[in-house]
Amino acid sequence: MSDCIFCKIIAGEIPCHKIYEDDFCLAFLDISNDLYGHTLVVPKKHNESVMTCDSTTLGRVIETCKKVGNHYVKNCGFDGFHIFNNNGEAANQSVKHVHFHILPRKKDDGQKVFPELECCGADLAEVCKELKLAEEKAQPHFEVPADTVVLYTDGACSGNPGAGGWAAILTFEGREKILSGGEDITTNNRMELMAVIQGLEAIKAGQKVKVFSDSAYVVNAFNQGWIANWKRNNWRSSSGGEVLNKEMWQRLLAAMQPLEVEFVKVKGHSDNVFNNRCDALAREEIAKIGG
Ligand code: AMP
Ligand code: ZN
Repeated sequence: MSDCIFCKIIAGEIPCHKIYEDDFCLAFLDISNDLYGHTLVVPKKHNESVMTCDSTTLGRVIETCKKVGNHYVKNCGFDGFHIFNNNGEAANQSVKHVHFHILPRKKDDGQKVFPELECCGADLAEVCKELKLAEEKAQPHFEVPADTVVLYTDGACSGNPGAGGWAAILTFEGREKILSGGEDITTNNRMELMAVIQGLEAIKAGQKVKVFSDSAYVVNAFNQGWIANWKRNNWRSSSGGEVLNKEMWQRLLAAMQPLEVEFVKVKGHSDNVFNNRCDALAREEIAKIGG
C-alpha cells in the first residue's frame, strides 16, 4: 500500500527503531515513547486490520509478539507484557495496517496501561445471550480431498451498478492465497464472476478445484445447465438477446478448461468463516474506491 506508513517503515523509506525482523514480521519501538519499551509488531504483508487478515499472517504476528515479549522478560528485566491490538476507528485504530502493541511491564511499576474501566452495570447473563457466538460448524472444505484446491469467492457492490469489489481465498496443502480487487462501476453479478475467474486463473493446470460461492447466479449456471443451454443457443438467452456478461462467462470457461472444477453453493452472510472473510475483503476493496 503506497500511502501506508507502516508499509513505508517496512520498505525502509521511513526510519524506525528496529527491535526484531524476519521474513514475515517487523517489530519496532512505538514513536509515542510513552511506556518504556512500547513496541509494535507488524506483518510485512499489508492487511488493514485483524478483521480481514488471514490466519497464517496473524499466526506469524502472534509468534513474533511472543518472541519479542519473551525476550523482554528473559533478557531485559521485565516481568510480563501486555499484547494490545485495536481494530477499526471505533476501537482507536489510527494506522490501518495490522499491528499489535507490546507493552512490557515490571512488577509494581505503578504504570497505568490498560484503561481502568468502571463497572458498566450490565447483567452478564444478558450480555452473554446478546453476544454469544454460534458454535462453529465444520467448514465444508474440511471434507474436500487433499488433492483438491478449495476456492472460496465473493463479490459485492455498493449500488447495483456501483463501485464493486471481489475476493478469492484459495487453500491447498495447508497454504492460503488471497486475491482481491475492485472496479469503479460494475454489478454484483460481475464481481461474483470476477472472483471465480481470478481465483481459477491463479491455479495450475490439471488441478482439481472445488469452488464455494454464495452466488446462485454463478453456481446455478453450471449446476443447473444454463451454460450448456447458452452454448447450444450461441450465447442467446431464451428471450433472444445476448446473454448478459457473455465475455466474462467465456473468460470463466477458459479458466476452467485446464482444470477439473466443481461448484458448491454456500449460504452467504452466515457462519461460514471463509465466505465471511471473502465478503469483508470485497467490501474493503469497495471502501478503497470510495464506494
Ligand atoms: P493504533 O492507535 O493502535 O492504530 O496504534 C498506532 C501506533 O502507531 C500509535 O501508538 C503511534 O504512536 C504509532 N506510530 C505512528 N507512526 C509511527 C512511526 N512512524 N513509527 C513508530 N510508531 C508509529
Ligand atoms: Zn501497510
